[in-house]
Amino acid sequence: MTHSRREWLATGTAALLAPAIIAPLPTAAALPPAGRQVASLYRTKVGDIEVTAVSDGTIALPVAVFGDANLAEARRLLAENFLSGDAPVPCALNCFLVNAGGKLVLLDTGSGDALGPTMGHLPANLAAMGVTAEKIDTVVLTHMHRDHAGGLCDKAGRALFPSCELVIPEVEAAFWFDEGNINRVPQGSRGGFAYAKQVAAAYQGRIRRLAGGRDVLPGITSQDAFGHTPGHSIYRVHSGNAQLLVFGDMVHFPALQVPHPEWGISFDVDPQAAVATRRRVFDMAAADRLMVAGMHMDFPGFGHLRKDSAGYHLLPAPWRPAL
Ligand SMILES: [Zn+2]
Repeated sequence: MTHSRREWLATGTAALLAPAIIAPLPTAAALPPAGRQVASLYRTKVGDIEVTAVSDGTIALPVAVFGDANLAEARRLLAENFLSGDAPVPCALNCFLVNAGGKLVLLDTGSGDALGPTMGHLPANLAAMGVTAEKIDTVVLTHMHRDHAGGLCDKAGRALFPSCELVIPEVEAAFWFDEGNINRVPQGSRGGFAYAKQVAAAYQGRIRRLAGGRDVLPGITSQDAFGHTPGHSIYRVHSGNAQLLVFGDMVHFPALQVPHPEWGISFDVDPQAAVATRRRVFDMAAADRLMVAGMHMDFPGFGHLRKDSAGYHLLPAPWRPAL
């Protein structure tokens, strides 16, 4: 038997009227609107290793970071993704806490107080899972840009992680610790050299420069992914047959750079190398069916890349309530 919408509405109205004859329930106090998000944490397992995505926040960036030539296509893609190209576009920033072999390893530190109030939420989110800076054994950087390394020091240059070992990719450390390279980076990134000096002083005696292909510790292996910065590196988290590729800044806006891997962003130190690396890493992730985690992918930032004749596609991982 089928009912027309009109019949259904009529029945519905009758049902709505019916409770009037029932004694009214005592009114519960209304929950005031929270006005803020819950803690931004999400866990996944890689074999025996637990990985938690921890948000540092989001920052809005103008579409112009992809250059004027790409503006029309960028706006078209943003509209297709229900985003406005007229206002700055929110860019997520994620860090990943890896609990492996009895050690807590933090991949990137977020921006600290360097980039305003929409960022710098890593410590609060870590605190929500009971983790303070003192509990972190090792901090590992993908690269030295402030959105990733800004959480290392406070404004006075003091170390915010009092006891950790700090692992920096070897080529990245060599580049930013040498102020002679200052003219090789875009204008907006030049403050990175003064900050690197602060980091070197604050973490003196506990910095390990890590070459590509080496282990941070068993289960976390670095891999060169140069271009975005001279020593930008990505990390394979592996346990048994399970793998996760934490691929740093391979992508800043998935809606744009997954269909257009050839689009550099204005913060790229070597845009051509960054594009070549993005294609190589995308190809590897797609061919090996690797789960990836991106520092700028929408929180929590896990997903898979698929490649077909139309190009690359990103499939964000579904939220799993159980590990
Ligand atoms: Zn970044």
